Amino acid sequence: MKKRWGSIILAIISIFLLTACSSSNKSQTITGTGNGKHGSIKVAVTFKGDSIKNIKVLEQNENKVLSKPVYKQLKDTIVAKNSTGVDVISGSTATSKGYIAAVNDAVKKAGISLKAVKIKSSSAKPKIAKTNNYDIVVVGSGGGGFAAAIEAKQAGKKVAIIEKMPTVGGNTLISGGEMNAPGNWVQKKLGIKGDSVASYYKDTMKGGDNLGDPEMVHILANNALGSAKWLRDDIHVKFINDQLFQFGGHSYKRALIPVGHTGQELVTKLNTKAKSLNIPIYVNMKAKSLIQKDGRVTGVKAQYQGKRNITFNAKKAVILTTGGFGSNVKMRTKYNKEFDQRYKSTDTAGTTGDGITMAQQVGAKLTNMKYIQTYPIANPKTGMISLLADTRFDGAILVNQNGQRFVEELERRDVISKAILKQPGSYTYQIWNDKIDGISKTKAAHKAEYDELIKEHLLYKADTINELAKDVNIDPAALSATITKVNQYAKTGNDKDFHHRAGLVSLAKGPYYIEKAVPSVHHTMGGLVINKQTQVLNTDDQVILGLYAAGELTGVIQGSNRLGGNAIADIITFGRIAGQSAGKL
Ligand code: ADP
Repeated sequence: MKKRWGSIILAIISIFLLTACSSSNKSQTITGTGNGKHGSIKVAVTFKGDSIKNIKVLEQNENKVLSKPVYKQLKDTIVAKNSTGVDVISGSTATSKGYIAAVNDAVKKAGISLKAVKIKSSSAKPKIAKTNNYDIVVVGSGGGGFAAAIEAKQAGKKVAIIEKMPTVGGNTLISGGEMNAPGNWVQKKLGIKGDSVASYYKDTMKGGDNLGDPEMVHILANNALGSAKWLRDDIHVKFINDQLFQFGGHSYKRALIPVGHTGQELVTKLNTKAKSLNIPIYVNMKAKSLIQKDGRVTGVKAQYQGKRNITFNAKKAVILTTGGFGSNVKMRTKYNKEFDQRYKSTDTAGTTGDGITMAQQVGAKLTNMKYIQTYPIANPKTGMISLLADTRFDGAILVNQNGQRFVEELERRDVISKAILKQPGSYTYQIWNDKIDGISKTKAAHKAEYDELIKEHLLYKADTINELAKDVNIDPAALSATITKVNQYAKTGNDKDFHHRAGLVSLAKGPYYIEKAVPSVHHTMGGLVINKQTQVLNTDDQVILGLYAAGELTGVIQGSNRLGGNAIADIITFGRIAGQSAGKL
């Protein structure tokens, strides 16, 4: 009897041990999903027992450059720590959160609980010397920084770029990437005649209320086409060869569009070029202050990952290309009380005006600081620019909650933004149809944004104007009356109400789209005063030796208001000049 009991107990123990053993070593691959910045991220997580062995991304629509460290660094950390309790990648917060949520979803479905493993932080420490010596140090890796570094390197200098975020690209990366170039090759192909440097100069000056420096705006106008050709021929940026945008305030369709309709094409190709020239790029490296000896700027004091102090000596020059201050509410309100936390921003987290502050500390003069631009059509929940709403440049109209138009849709950004803020609820609706969408194939170019807006109930599609109005609680009769007028004006070519400069497009046929939008801080026009060589001037209008600047942190080009498509033209033109000028030292 005793013996029988003994063998039963033995059998139970061995069954228990066997199951425990097999479950702790069981390999399985489970899928999980989470919400990223541009829709859902789907991953396949491979487990062995209660350990994550691998994570594979199956579906996603995130920004290619910004998501790279998430899918590599963040993944490696999760696997090494066997934990999803990890820090997000700064600058890629939404993508990081979506990715972590997707892994958590898979963990939950697998029915296991992860046991975190402690890893030595030293294993991730890269080898960066405390002091680094270069001829030229470029601070900031947006379009301006890349253009400057590439030119300086090609002039034979030892160049480095330092970037505070984990990824390169700045606002250039998340912009639409369009670039004005009067007399460009696509205009020729499309038979657009009459555009000229003079016309572009006039539009830009007028668009900024004549507060841009005429000499500098002449340089921009004269060089914009050359800058576009440089991007096309030297950097191998692909522009769409049969489409152009006419942004508000421009007399012609003159903005080239990169493939994909975003700055990703520019930044990816500039990065490739910089790599091919062996220009080192130090990411997570924040410039904190400029080093000045006997009045000359000779380097940068930086901090790596917010911890280690690193010195970058620059024998010849420091070029500041750190962008504007749209994401810095304190700095915004210092110069213009209007733009407080009520306004979201279209800008990246790194757009905090560091270069302006650092240059000011060595005596730089500032100008036009109070001019802060809002982008009129941004996501009311996130503040992100709506690139889907680029249909406005092909004929989409704007209406208020009463179903009425209230501004010319191709007016300057500041004029449209102010007009929107005066409407009931301080928002607008943009309306277009499939015919308008088809002109630049906008929906296809921005599919992820389209899906996200639909999901968030910020965008509706309907077959009739009546249904469209009902979707957003506009009085259907009022909206129909507006659309009837638009169709009439489209036929006659005469918009009697707001004088649409490109001529309205008929909205007689559906299906239709309606998108809710608000203005969001987009560009800071003010900044450093630079001369023709992009040398930074001090408050006595004297050159600060060794210090150059280009891009959004300068304040002498855009006046009170930057026209669409002028940022890329500005940063590439003056970024190149900065690199060439410093390259001659
Ligand atoms: P631009 O259009 O003028 O080239 P961007 O916004 O595209 O400007 O790029 C500016 C870049 O500078 C961004 O990538 C931003 O993260 C980086 N940056 C800003 N401040 C610093 C800083 N203190 N140190 C290093 N990089 C910086």
